[in-house]
Amino acid sequence: MKKVVKFGGSSLASAAQFEKVGAIIREDESRRYVVPSAPGKRFSEDTKVTDLLYACYRSVGDEEKFSKILAEIKSRYQEIIDGLRLSLSLEEDFALLEDNFKKQIGEEYAASRGEYLNGKIMAAYLGFAFVDPADMIRFDGNGQFDGEITEKLVAKRLDDLENAVVPGFYGAKEDGTIKTFSRGGSDITGSIVAGAIDADLYENWTDVSGFLVTDPRIIPNPKPIDTITYRELRELSYMGATVLHEDAIFPVRKAGIPINIRNTNAPEDPGTMIVEDTCKKPPYTITGIAGKKGFCSLYIEKSMMNSEIGFGRKVLQVLEEQGIAFEHIPSGIDTMSIYIHQDEFSQKEQQVIAGIHRIAHPDYMELETDLSLIAVVGRGMRSNRGTAARIFAALAHANVNVKMIDQGSSELNVIVGVKDEDFEPAIRAIYDIFVETQI
Ligand code: ASP
Repeated sequence: MKKVVKFGGSSLASAAQFEKVGAIIREDESRRYVVPSAPGKRFSEDTKVTDLLYACYRSVGDEEKFSKILAEIKSRYQEIIDGLRLSLSLEEDFALLEDNFKKQIGEEYAASRGEYLNGKIMAAYLGFAFVDPADMIRFDGNGQFDGEITEKLVAKRLDDLENAVVPGFYGAKEDGTIKTFSRGGSDITGSIVAGAIDADLYENWTDVSGFLVTDPRIIPNPKPIDTITYRELRELSYMGATVLHEDAIFPVRKAGIPINIRNTNAPEDPGTMIVEDTCKKPPYTITGIAGKKGFCSLYIEKSMMNSEIGFGRKVLQVLEEQGIAFEHIPSGIDTMSIYIHQDEFSQKEQQVIAGIHRIAHPDYMELETDLSLIAVVGRGMRSNRGTAARIFAALAHANVNVKMIDQGSSELNVIVGVKDEDFEPAIRAIYDIFVETQI
């Protein structure tokens, strides 16, 4: 049994957190490959080391500021080393880092040092081999991640290592230039390593016990989700349920490896299993509820729209030309509405409206702002009668006016549009009817 275990920044922010992580790894010998993030926040006003590194790199030229931030970074690591009573010295690494920062060799190099140095400490603490991802996580000449070569290099490098620490978040181009993934990208490294070595499980350790049925800022202590499919997760993450980096799914999904989200501060909690498919029925018909505020809708009316071939294409072409993505397009016989992110749209609204007038000649258009979209997601919906009825009865009782309804073609979700001010009451009402009342 081989597990890849990734630990997020808050799990590695201090020596005390490292000790928890050490205990978790030592408890199960199949936890053989460890992917650490850079030290995160120790308390809510704290700064992540990655952010300090970016700031330090940008302050080259301002000697006082540069030295101050660099000293802060050094002390973050020294605190961990001292707390763990390690004899490790990062002096040489810091000398090289300082030199490279002054040469301005790249911001991504700068950011990557957070994971690199934490990986060194982790390897010394656990007595595992340290493997630099710059030697095996490969980006092409255009800076795009190259999955094919990477898979081969990782498999080859880790094949005869019983245990290893592979820092997250970065890799390199063939010429050695360091490249990072987008923020939160250590999740992706963990997934790549798990996929490449054919792990049995990818454990992703963070500071929450997995996914919750809904946002705890809206419902206090929502129920945890014990099992979720990749497709359900995609729907929920898209709507803002963020525990895992979206790009972390592909490498393990492709290899059929489940992900287990776990909590470093509550290792006894089973967390959430993310799987391709499962026979396990979710306990409440729905798996989760997520949503986002800040949409607007563009309502378009034209008589005989239904028989005008190409009308929809013309309208969407205007959006395409303006570089605007749309979310949903509910339509009637002679009407259609387009749901768009408000902040994206507001910069180009007049160009879009003029463009649609010019190309599609509608009779009437109207904008509605401050709308929210709520996704009610669940693999159980397909085989259950009355899910939609329950959602809308709950919303009616909560006095929420529904502006839009869209049942995804996958029958995996129902999307409801409401005014922003109804967002929280709507989520509470839906949670209540499916989870609390369970009728
Ligand atoms: N340290 C990086 C960040 O703060 C990557 C990660 O933690 O996954 O975004």
